[in-house]
Formats: sequence, structure tokens, C-alpha cells
Amino acid sequence: MATEKSGYKRKALPEKVRLEVWVRSGGRCTICNRYLLDGALANKTIRLGELAHIVGQQSTAGSPRGQNDLVERDTADNVMLVCADEHDEIDAPENLDVFTVEKLLAFKRAHEDRIKHVTGIAPDRATTVLRMIGQVRGHEVELTRQSASSAVLTSGDRVPLFLESYSRHGIEIELRHVLGEATIDLRDVPGEDGANGEYYRQAKAVIDNVIDNKLNEGISRDQVAHISVFGFARIPLLVYLGSRLDDTVPTDVYQRHRHDETWTWSEDEPAVAFSAHLDQDVPPDEEAVLVLNISGTIQPGELPPHLAGLRRYRISPVEAMASPDIMRHRDSLASFQERLRALFSDIEATAKRVRRLHVLPAVPLSAAVSLGRVHDRHVHPSLTIYDRTNGGYRPALEIK
Ligand SMILES: [Zn+2]
Repeated sequence: MATEKSGYKRKALPEKVRLEVWVRSGGRCTICNRYLLDGALANKTIRLGELAHIVGQQSTAGSPRGQNDLVERDTADNVMLVCADEHDEIDAPENLDVFTVEKLLAFKRAHEDRIKHVTGIAPDRATTVLRMIGQVRGHEVELTRQSASSAVLTSGDRVPLFLESYSRHGIEIELRHVLGEATIDLRDVPGEDGANGEYYRQAKAVIDNVIDNKLNEGISRDQVAHISVFGFARIPLLVYLGSRLDDTVPTDVYQRHRHDETWTWSEDEPAVAFSAHLDQDVPPDEEAVLVLNISGTIQPGELPPHLAGLRRYRISPVEAMASPDIMRHRDSLASFQERLRALFSDIEATAKRVRRLHVLPAVPLSAAVSLGRVHDRHVHPSLTIYDRTNGGYRPALEIK
């Protein structure tokens, strides 16, 4: 197809070159990334893009950038896919000082490299990043999309996909936010500092809203095959979040590490193991206590008086001190989760009467999410999660 533009006659490009440039560009404009196969008006597939020469097709003055040295000009390396109006703009004589050969080559290289990288990601490695951003005693940490992405990329073989819908069907475009990422922002919920019942009630509603309307929606449409959870908030809310996650979807929980202020697991640190103990062996009744001495140690004397006489279990590290940064290695978290699962089974088998477990958690953030995930509301006793406020432990919320 020959067209009249910029005052000279273009020869049609060989089909092989056209195909190669379309594929290398992913069907998207090299400059603005617009998808160039969808017409906005008639809802039909239509090729909106144009193939623009970088060094002009001819070496005459009328051919934009044509007087640069290049022997073979109709090659995929010298042609870029762009929107029609941008084609006009980069070829306009008054713009040639801006759209130089170097500039256009840089656009082309960056765009085609990115398309190759992004389309190289196999779909089964995609993970949906779920961030829950809150405060702990007025304190916040960095939990940007960027820091979560880099933790996922460096910690394993998963890729945080921030997908965009390629479909022109309205219903799927609505899903854009479900596909790649979901965010629970608790920072606008008032009263974190005092963290009373009203604070927890409001924060739970925010969590429920995102889980029900975004995440579960995506899961039911098979758009979410794997979840990566990043949470920074009061411990009871992290347990609640864990309890709301669908246990049919494989999930990785991440930990914010104090020593380097990142969310990336360490490979160098040895993993820590945990063990369960029955500290107070009184006959099982309807209520029992579980103390989690993981990030710190809760002394028996710190228990609220109404819990003092109950059957009491404890999980704590083996051959390591309880400390805030104990979950440096992802295997430590896995070990904690296994220990917890085994303890719940044990209670189910040997202390069937227990219908409520009062949980006093001195745990890192990731362990709190894992606690919620391991808990099965159909089989296990309901959990009353305690929070430490004003020096004492008080019930914060129920996981039923
Ligand atoms: Zn464009």
C-alpha cells in the first residue's frame, strides 16, 4: 500500500517486516502503549497502528530523517509501530529536531524489550499481590506496590502481574483491579491508637469489603490463581485477614523484616523451628488458652485473671530466643504454620470439649496472618484474639 504523506511516496513494506514489527511491539504503540487492534467506536478489530520508518525510507530531503546513513531501510529494526497521529507528529518537518533517530531508537528498544519481558511470563507463575496497609501504635512502614513487587520477584519464582484487560467486553474491563492487585487501606480508620472495639469493627468492614468485592470476585472468575499477602497492621486484624482468605487458593505470606526494613526473605539465616507445649494441664473445658511466644515472651503473670485457671497451650521457638525479627527465613514461617496446624488437630483429637480458644499472640506480622489461615472455622474452636493495650491483654476480636 502506497500512501501520500510528508510529500513523498512510500513503498509498501514487505509482509515479513510488517509482521515482525507488530509482534515485537505486542500490538501496542511504541510511544504511548495504546493497544492498536481495537476500535473504540465500532467495537471491531481494526488495525489502527501505522509502521513508521526511523531513518526515512528514502535518502531524499522530503523523507523524514532520510538523510541519515543507512543502507537497508525496510527492516524490522528501522520500523516502529505507532498511532497514526503520532506518526504524523514524529514525521512533521518542524519536529525533526525533537524526534531524532537516536530518540526513536530508544523508544523502540525500551518498548520492544518490555513487551518481550512481560509476555515471557507464563501465566501459572502469576501472583495477585494483596497489601493491607495499616498502623501499629501510630507507626507506619513502607509498603508500596514497588516494595511488594520486588519482594515477590527476589523471593521466588513468582511474578507479580499487574495485568490489564485485553478484552473489549465491558464486564472484564471492570475486573482490571481484581486481576493484578488488591489493596486494603486501614489508615483512614480512626482510633488505631486506642484500638477499641469500634476501631476493630470498622477495620474489619474495610477488610471484608476488599475481600468480598475484589479478591473473591477475581477468584470466582478464575482470575486469581495465587496470592501474595503483605500486611502491616494490628495483630488481631492480620489474623482476621488470614481467616478471610480462601484456603483453596495457594498463598504466600510475606514478613516485614526489621533488620533491613524490607519484605524480602533472607536466604542466609538458618530457619527456626517451633514446638508446642501444654503448660497448664487441667482437664479440658469449653475454654482454653493459647499463648504464642514467638516475637516476644508473655509471662503467665501477664494473663488476664479470668484466663488464669484454664487449660493452657504454648508455642515457642526451639533453640532460639523469641524475638521480633525471628521470621527472617520463609521456612521459619512454614515451621510455625505446621506446628500450629498440628496443635489444632491435637486439640480437636484430645480436647474436643474446647469450643473457644483465647489466643494471646506475641507474634510477627506474617505469623498472625498464618494463624488466621490455619484456623478452620468449621472444625476448630472459635478464636478470641487478644491485643496488648495499656500494658494489659484485652479481647480485640473473634474469629468464629
Ligand atoms: Zn501512540
